Amino acid sequence: MSNVLRATLLSLFGSLAPGCASPGPPAATATPEAPGAPADLVIKAGVVRTMDPAKPRAEAVAVRGERIVYVGSAADTKAFVGPGTRVVELPGRAVVPGLVDGHGHLYGLGIALETPSVRGAKSVEEAAAVVAEAAKARPRGEWITGRGWDQNLWPGAAFPTHGPLDAAAPEHPVALRRVDGHALWANAAAMRAAGVGRGTQDPPGGRVLRDAAGEPTGVFIDKAMDLVEARIPADPPAVRERRILRAAEEALSCGLTGVHEMGIDDETVTAYRALAAAGRLPIRVHAYLAGEGRLEGLRGRAPDVDATGTAMFVLRGVKLFADGALGSRGAALLEPYADEPSTSGLLLMEPDALARAARLVADAGFQLAVHAIGDRANRAALDAFEALGPGRAAALRFRVEHAQIVSPDDLPRFSALGVIASMQPTHATSDMPWAPARLGAHRLKGAYAWRSLRSSGARLVFGSDFPVEDASPLLGMYAAVTRQDLSGQPPGGWMPEERLDLDEALLAFTAAPAYASWAEGQRGRIAPGYVADLTVLGRDLSPDRSLVDTPIDMVVVGGRVARAGAPALRPDRHPMSRPTQ
Ligand SMILES: [Zn+2]
Repeated sequence: MSNVLRATLLSLFGSLAPGCASPGPPAATATPEAPGAPADLVIKAGVVRTMDPAKPRAEAVAVRGERIVYVGSAADTKAFVGPGTRVVELPGRAVVPGLVDGHGHLYGLGIALETPSVRGAKSVEEAAAVVAEAAKARPRGEWITGRGWDQNLWPGAAFPTHGPLDAAAPEHPVALRRVDGHALWANAAAMRAAGVGRGTQDPPGGRVLRDAAGEPTGVFIDKAMDLVEARIPADPPAVRERRILRAAEEALSCGLTGVHEMGIDDETVTAYRALAAAGRLPIRVHAYLAGEGRLEGLRGRAPDVDATGTAMFVLRGVKLFADGALGSRGAALLEPYADEPSTSGLLLMEPDALARAARLVADAGFQLAVHAIGDRANRAALDAFEALGPGRAAALRFRVEHAQIVSPDDLPRFSALGVIASMQPTHATSDMPWAPARLGAHRLKGAYAWRSLRSSGARLVFGSDFPVEDASPLLGMYAAVTRQDLSGQPPGGWMPEERLDLDEALLAFTAAPAYASWAEGQRGRIAPGYVADLTVLGRDLSPDRSLVDTPIDMVVVGGRVARAGAPALRPDRHPMSRPTQ
């Protein structure tokens, strides 16, 4: 992981935490097998929501190998049942096409899941206990990094020393950032590994705290943090694979069969490829390389193309940032912030740099995904895409990530340019308490504007941006159809005219991400010939608060049961606040 990505993740989680020439896949050509040929798996449920306009509802699905061979009545599945067929009877349950998160950070979730959070610890001992727990879970010698301690919450409010961390994890180097990111707390093993000792000088802009004898105490201020952090080795492949697998399990438990992995480095790509090649990656990952730093390197490489829709890992895109986040007033707006008129935010890439980057990505045949929150950033992204010439951005399925605040003048441009609007419904319900203050009433039109975009003809892909938000697509659907928080506020929903209906929300978590990953005709629908990626829910979906607690009963990926009998989602896992954005 790049340092920039690491820093971004740290700041977000607090807790560390094509070619244009290559056509999309052909439409599925497989035809339903003649009755008599047995299926491997038959699922009979209360209802099958197929997302197939030709047959929107069914009762049963039959699967052979990786593909669906039959969709229809439960009675007619008899013809597909042979001695080796696994028949699963799930009365009252609902089957939907495999749910896909169109914008998540699977590797980032893996980091977050195994990073000890010492945030809120009320004493040195409490913080050290968290580290001791983390040490148990990983091999000796592996670094433990984390964040969140604040000595002002502790008795005496003094800076800590390395002693408690030595006791907690004597054989693991430990380095924990303070809650504000401006101090590092290390143990003796970390200082040894970094070669820090009595003779270490304070670097310019930094300070090493020392005891009366001049020995470093374990706390490093500002630039002195580098003395330790620069010596932390890159994560080895086995650690990366472990994180991916752990995060994939979490994603499966949320009912996901696929994720669009929004920005990873080459080492993480290698880990994904190794897992996929070994048949160990349990969910599908459509990945994007992170960052400007990798643009030049694109010239020599080609995007992955998966013509069958069955690949578990595909690297086909590049992710760039046009601006920052709204919460921190880093989103680039056309007019100043309503609650801080001295600033209108900041473009992280100037329009001409963005346009050059878009051309470079297009020429290399990759798919570009541009993070754009503010209306100025969205305009810059659309301008850059338009400058490629007629039809080019559409052919390459370029996308805008978040598309959060869009000038009403620019709303129709998504459809006109064929640009995908990749949005996260829970961002709206997380931001609604404070977004109006940032934006002012006049600018809310065009903010989190799912209905407006959809009505204009734009393609909406939904995701969660996990682990910034919870990974559950059911939470996203709930936010999309209600625009309310989990307690049902505000009554009627926030800007209710932008709500979607349930089928539209489901489409944005199924068929739409399939299109965005060149898998239309292969995935995103339950129909004969399609890949058997299925999510089985404990009951049918209904457009209300009950969505959130709908149990995930089974997840099928490529015809294989990847997860069965997952526990119901727990409400306490659903933070609906997102302080950083
Ligand atoms: Zn993201």
